[in-house]
Amino acid sequence: MALRQESLTEHASGAGAPVSDRQAEEAFRTIIRWIGEDPGRDGLNETPRRLLKAYREYFAGYDEDPAQVLRKTFTEVDGYDEIIVLRGVTFESHCEHHIAPIIGRAWVGYLPDRRVVGISKLARVVEIFSKRLQIQERLTAQIANTIDEALKPRGVAVVIKAAHHCMISRGVHKRGADLVTSRMLGVFRDQPATRSEFLSLVNSDSHE
Ligand SMILES: [Zn+2]
Repeated sequence: MALRQESLTEHASGAGAPVSDRQAEEAFRTIIRWIGEDPGRDGLNETPRRLLKAYREYFAGYDEDPAQVLRKTFTEVDGYDEIIVLRGVTFESHCEHHIAPIIGRAWVGYLPDRRVVGISKLARVVEIFSKRLQIQERLTAQIANTIDEALKPRGVAVVIKAAHHCMISRGVHKRGADLVTSRMLGVFRDQPATRSEFLSLVNSDSHE
């Protein structure tokens, strides 16, 4: 018991009072009991600890700042004035309504104006925002807005196609339905030709 008391202040997190690993494990144990299971039986004994580790991975995006990732930009673009597109990068996120997986792909494009970044940095921005509790609309907007603010490009385009497990394994039980969201800024919003160029890349990429 003394040990339990001691570990209550191990980790700070989120808003409000800090929650220790021990408290989080205890909460998972309570849910297992609520399901009607015995959290003490062999197969489940280590499950709260495993869940804790899994959650740490699912929500690693709270510890990182996507704007920081885009800090290192290159300014020698040598007059490059074509769109740059990261195509169909995969991601896993969790919906904030059911903490159910959102599994999808993102297409991220921008038309640079002086500043460019390594393409892997765009993938990192997708990764960081997806490792948080999300709704797909906000995930899409956050990726676009962060790139827009960091690179001040002539335009940014983000399309996300994803399957929501809260629709597959519960609720309406619909398999194979993707939710598509997009955010178009700058030239991608104002110039139909630029938008079409990006969207044709997105559509030619889709493997259904
Ligand atoms: Zn959901």
